[in-house]
Amino acid sequence: MESPEFVRTSLAAAITLDLVPGRFYRDAKLYCINLLIMHRNGCTANCSYCGLSKIRPGMYEKKSFIRVGWPVFRTEEVVERMKEKRERGEIKRVCISMITRRKAVEDTIEIARMIKKEMDIPISFLIAPTVVLERDFPRFLDAGADKIGIAIDAATPELFEKHRGKGTGGPHRWERYWKCFSEALKYFGEGNVGSHFIVGLGETEREMVEAIQRIKDMGGETHLFSFFPEENSLLENHPRPPVSVYRRVQLARYLIDEGISRYDWMRFDEHERITDFGVPVDEWVESGEPFMTSGCKGEDGKVACNRPYANERPSEEPRNFPFPPTREDVEKIKEELWDYTTQ
Ligand code: SF4
Repeated sequence: MESPEFVRTSLAAAITLDLVPGRFYRDAKLYCINLLIMHRNGCTANCSYCGLSKIRPGMYEKKSFIRVGWPVFRTEEVVERMKEKRERGEIKRVCISMITRRKAVEDTIEIARMIKKEMDIPISFLIAPTVVLERDFPRFLDAGADKIGIAIDAATPELFEKHRGKGTGGPHRWERYWKCFSEALKYFGEGNVGSHFIVGLGETEREMVEAIQRIKDMGGETHLFSFFPEENSLLENHPRPPVSVYRRVQLARYLIDEGISRYDWMRFDEHERITDFGVPVDEWVESGEPFMTSGCKGEDGKVACNRPYANERPSEEPRNFPFPPTREDVEKIKEELWDYTTQ
């Protein structure tokens, strides 16, 4: 059961494609089918927070990732279901995620080809910079990808080293991730390359916002995740970031990515928490938009990759709203945003 013949899908994607039964809390809808490369021996890296990490016990195909299970299906079956949904206008994008293993590069290209042969749909590749070479980018374009995602995840070189590099005996290098980000921009162009960062790996708000600005200045954008401990991972006992911290970083990300404010206009307190966003923010906060999931967009210009409940249990308040927050949600967000009782 290996890619390209087989592929893992997120639980949300499997529900969306009617491959498993289920419904989303608060009737959220997913518009991006997230696929993950299947390989018997899994990922060769040891990222401390990641469910797929090599040192986490269990078989790769059973390991959860970003909080949920990723069942394995025949790629042909997934593509067939996607085609039906696409024809009905129910899905807007597909994202293929690599694991750190050179074969994943070839598998990702092959799966994209299988999809493109059957339907016209925008495709994102979430690539693994440690195994991707610059000469792969023209091949990604040729296979039909229009966007690239790079999960840098940790906001500073020290945290990156600790959680993904030498600190865990992992193969990743900070410099390679940023160089790969520049290479991706060279081939895919501004606005088509996104970084992922995980809030809560030990960084301060200021450090996270600085990394987001660096990405923006390069021509990229940022998609945020809130750390959630995976059972049996090295960080299984690591606390989640306070929701107030996450709300402030979300708002800062929105203002930076939309070109409304900048890191150097913002002010921070002695704990490096954001106290001033550099511009009046009431209008943006009231819109609720900064707190919705940021991710790759569909052809309609709206976020397709909205990852419902990837950061929390469905019974909890969404950290990333997969739908526009209600009036009631916004009132709660406002209280959280200006809460400085936690660090
Ligand atoms: S490289 Fe990616 S999939 Fe592999 S352990 Fe690290 S975060 Fe997880």
